[in-house]
Amino acid sequence: MFTILIVEDNANTARLMEVVLSQNGYETLRASDGVKALDALAQNHVDLILLDIMMPNMDGYEFTKILRESGSQIPILMVTAKDDKDDIRKGFLTGTDDYMVKPVDEIEMLLRIQALLRRAKIAADKKLVIGGTVLDYDSFTITTNNEELVLPKKEFQILFKFLSYPNKTFTRHQLMDEFWDADSQTEERTVDVHINRLRERFKNSPDFEIVTVRGLGYKAVKKE
Ligand code: MN
Repeated sequence: MFTILIVEDNANTARLMEVVLSQNGYETLRASDGVKALDALAQNHVDLILLDIMMPNMDGYEFTKILRESGSQIPILMVTAKDDKDDIRKGFLTGTDDYMVKPVDEIEMLLRIQALLRRAKIAADKKLVIGGTVLDYDSFTITTNNEELVLPKKEFQILFKFLSYPNKTFTRHQLMDEFWDADSQTEERTVDVHINRLRERFKNSPDFEIVTVRGLGYKAVKKE
């Protein structure tokens, strides 16, 4: 079971979050400011932090900064009072992983929490399981039905990215920015070549396929 620390000075908001989270199978802890939240973290195992910004004693930004400087990678979902671009930017700069705007939509909150926990687990394990296919980031190995395949690094990284975010479209530009040096003479064609190789290798995969999103880029789709 996952434990979520709710850091929120408004008791009603905190209570509401607590009810929704516990109804959906999460353990919860509560802290009413950043100082108390650091205490709670020192004494408990926490998988994710739901974090208010404006709080007495220590606000959400300062809390995040201290936590990240200590080396902690616990996922943080920041909850902002207003949809202010500067606030959101500041949140990401101090080290938050995602944000939501108040009033909090329950379903949205649960979906964002699920996504953050899933990504944290993938990052910690460096292993990704899609049906009967296992990707191991340390060895660039893909195993399907006991058959092992070691991929060239870039192909592996691209596939790992795609399968970490099923159904999300990546543009050629995004892929170039992430996987090729800025100064290398990469053309969009180079990305296509890598994708085509991946596609050819996994054309018979029972678990996923890589599809073209016309005019945009590529995505991986899981097969049920
Ligand atoms: Mn507040």
